[in-house]
Parts: sequence; structure tokens; C-alpha cells
Amino acid sequence: MSDLGNATIHDISVTLGTESIDYPGDTAYSRNLIMNSGDSFCNLSRLEMSCHSGTHLDVPFHFYADGKTLDDFQVTDFIKRVHVIEIMDPDRITASEVDWSLISPGEGVLFKTRNSREGLVKSGKFVSDFVYLSPDAAKKVNECKASLVGIDYISIEQFGVEHFHSHLEVLGQDVIVLEAVNLEGISEGTYTLMCLPLKLSSADASPVRAILIED
Ligand SMILES: [Zn+2]
Repeated sequence: MSDLGNATIHDISVTLGTESIDYPGDTAYSRNLIMNSGDSFCNLSRLEMSCHSGTHLDVPFHFYADGKTLDDFQVTDFIKRVHVIEIMDPDRITASEVDWSLISPGEGVLFKTRNSREGLVKSGKFVSDFVYLSPDAAKKVNECKASLVGIDYISIEQFGVEHFHSHLEVLGQDVIVLEAVNLEGISEGTYTLMCLPLKLSSADASPVRAILIED
């Protein structure tokens, strides 16, 4: 937490390399010094990672061959008013637990679950029984015309399912999916979210630095 003028700013990003989780089968994150100041004139690192490493966002091209890629969005699409809603269900985010009337068209919603409360999102280790976004809740995200949905784990989807219904549902309506935000210590309420991706050409996703600014 820090202050900028009157605003309180929360960094809700996980640290790549110490806190971030490698999704099974995806490229693991690594950063290696290929030059170091001990025997060269500078330190210089090489990154190897997925576009889905650490705190990141997904765009429709992730699941739709003709879907919007990262550069089909404006930078202002990644700065918006969001509602942080706490979920007590230990297994999944269901439509019935959420007061969807809080969300106005164009706003975003971030779900805080036991993934944050128990530190799973910043543990560095993958667990398969994380709290996920159920397909019925994904439908509600679309019905209230939210423009972004976020969760405090590396995927919104239940692990091990054959069909990625929740991703397909929201990405099919051009909703941005923000994954692996750490909402530990964040109270329910409304904030301004900034989650700026790298300016990658034609990409399906990008790591972001995500912050919440209190009103
Ligand atoms: Zn992703």
C-alpha cells in the first residue's frame, strides 16, 4: 500500500519468480543472468515465460481463433472501475452468492476467495482444488454486461475439466479475464483498477502489473 496524493494504492500483483504459479503444461517462468557484472560490463537477464505467467490478462483470441487479440483493445480498456466481491464458498464462485446488481454495464468485477485468504495465489506452488468461476457465474458476468472479470488464482476455470465453459462464456462476449491477482488485505468495495499489459502484437494474453486505487 502507498499513497499518491489523496489516493491509496494497492499492488495486487504477484511477484514473478518467487510467488507466481506455473500452470501445469505451460512454460515455466525463469529469469537467468546471461551476463553478470562480475565478469562483464553489466548485468543482463533473459526471461523465459508464458504470456499467462503470474498476474496476467486473457483476451478472446486465447480461446477463439478469430477473437480479438491484445492489440484490438485500447489502453483505456485496462483502466476501469471495478467491484471487489468476497466469496465464502470454499469450492467455487456461484451465481447465487453474488449480488450482481452492484455491477453496472462496462464495469469490472474481481472475486476475492480463499485463494487469497489462504495465500494460495502467491504460494509459488500449483494446487488443483483452487476456487474457480463456475459457468453459471460466468453467464451472470455477461448478463450484467461487465467488461472484465478477475480471480485470485492462475485460472478462472475448474482444473481438469474437458470443456472450458467459463473462459468460452466470457471471452465470447469480449470480456477481459484477469487472473492471479492477490486480493489478500483488500476490502470489498469499489476501486479504480489499472492492469496494463505489455504492448504485444497479436497476443492471446499478457503479464500485467495490476493496482487498485481507492476512491
Ligand atoms: Zn490466462
